[in-house]
Amino acid sequence: MSIAELAPAHIRAIAPYPPGKPITALAREMGIPVERIVKLASNENPLGMSRLARAAVEREVAGLARYPDQFELIQGIAERHGIDAERVILGNGSNDLLDYVARVFLGPGLSSVFSQYAFAVYPLATQGVGAESLVVPARDYGHDLDAMRAAIRPDTRVVWIANPNNPTGTFLPAGAVHAFLQAVPRDVIVVLDEAYDEYLPPALRGDANDTRGWLDAFPNLIITRTFSKVYGLAGLRVGYALGAAEVIDLLNRLRQPFNVNNLALAAARAALDDHLFLAESFELNLRGIEQIVAGLKRIGLGHIPAHGNFVTFHVKDAASVNQRLLKQGMIVRPLGNYAMPEHLRVTVGLESENARFLTALEKSL
Ligand SMILES: *Cc1c(COP(=O)(O)O)cnc(C)c1O
Repeated sequence: MSIAELAPAHIRAIAPYPPGKPITALAREMGIPVERIVKLASNENPLGMSRLARAAVEREVAGLARYPDQFELIQGIAERHGIDAERVILGNGSNDLLDYVARVFLGPGLSSVFSQYAFAVYPLATQGVGAESLVVPARDYGHDLDAMRAAIRPDTRVVWIANPNNPTGTFLPAGAVHAFLQAVPRDVIVVLDEAYDEYLPPALRGDANDTRGWLDAFPNLIITRTFSKVYGLAGLRVGYALGAAEVIDLLNRLRQPFNVNNLALAAARAALDDHLFLAESFELNLRGIEQIVAGLKRIGLGHIPAHGNFVTFHVKDAASVNQRLLKQGMIVRPLGNYAMPEHLRVTVGLESENARFLTALEKSL
């Protein structure tokens, strides 16, 4: 038996997650100076991190000899959402939490349901515990909730919904998600991944869309959020989930006691209150989406309506366009691993970065 064969078949069958190309990797590969590279590939906040978060990190450095204490961040999140602290769990990024869900509720002989073009971590988390992925064809690149409901089998324990979804940017109105929750058996966990929620304009996420208000009625609902996107803390790795106390308790049994580090805890707690930074990030994103969409239109390329901090656009032979963008020091995200070989995803950057992207794109066609 070879060493590789020692791993179970379901592990060997996993296709690794291809992350956005790091700036340093492109610099090494193409000899382009780091300062001339623009990375709009991983939906990071172009404004960086909030000043309050940075100051908190600097203060926290002195305490790094100590193990972390999650109390204050959990308390802050609970207060923000008006729920009990026992209904909050922290993750090393929200990705961490998606893994807990799979490890707690899935396993061999069980299945999870998600949409074609849904976030790539759902199949990874499912397959990683030997469960089966039931992939439901998308409708207009978005989740077809009726079809997802119909795909649920007796062995289905988890349904994954990203709203807005990455990499497509599609959005499901609250009413549709609520109706879905009502239709789904209560013994199926529904994960509502709201990594981009803070980018939704108030008209789309007003009070009526307050999904955390549904937690009482739906003990099978888990909502995940992250500090990686609008909060600008992707490199620190911190996210959280909200759910019924019973569910959170189950997830906590798998959580390493110190899964989120001191710096991340301090930064996230400070960022939570940096309303100015959040408003600034939101505004910049709104204008950036308009700028990119107008530019794509001018160039004559179609796009999927964007509801996050990125725009996914249609370009024939995206792979070679991507190569030509890379040569100009412009990193965007090819979507071959999502079986979308004619699309590229660009993260909203600063106004100057978006402009540079549009110029480079036009040259690449
Ligand atoms: C970015 C993203 C996440 C968050 O990842 P982190 O692990 O919190 O950095 C989760 N879900 C979706 C759909 C995302 O795009």
